[in-house]
Amino acid sequence: MVAAGGTQRVPLREGTFTIPEDGGPPRLCGTRCPSCGATYAGQRVICLGCARRGLEPHALSPSGTVWTFTIVRQQPPGSIMKAPYPIGQVALDDGPIVAAAFIDIAPEDVRIGMPVEMTLVPIRKDDNGNEVVAHAFRRRKEAAR
Ligand SMILES: [Zn+2]
Repeated sequence: MVAAGGTQRVPLREGTFTIPEDGGPPRLCGTRCPSCGATYAGQRVICLGCARRGLEPHALSPSGTVWTFTIVRQQPPGSIMKAPYPIGQVALDDGPIVAAAFIDIAPEDVRIGMPVEMTLVPIRKDDNGNEVVAHAFRRRKEAAR
């Protein structure tokens, strides 16, 4: 996607998530079983549900709920986050549970079951002037579901 100034947004790790051209929400890359419909985070070869080989690429739901969390109180070396901050796992609406950094949620406000959605966070510029982005989860805007 083209960001302000004509530069592109590129993922911190290629193949981790999509950045839709149409301005839709970013989605983590996963796989889905065409036989039983089981959905997985990341790339799987064999379905754990029915043992089928040949799973299909699947863009995971951009929304879910906080599955669990903890508060980081000591600043890790090189981290762009400022301790204390919450990290944890998110149960996506289509099933998989994924590791998550949370953004714009104060440590005292995060709760198990809180509705969250994926967003992209600028990390730095690369050598070509592109904006390198990472994914994180923030409180879901339309929390009326
Ligand atoms: Zn299956």
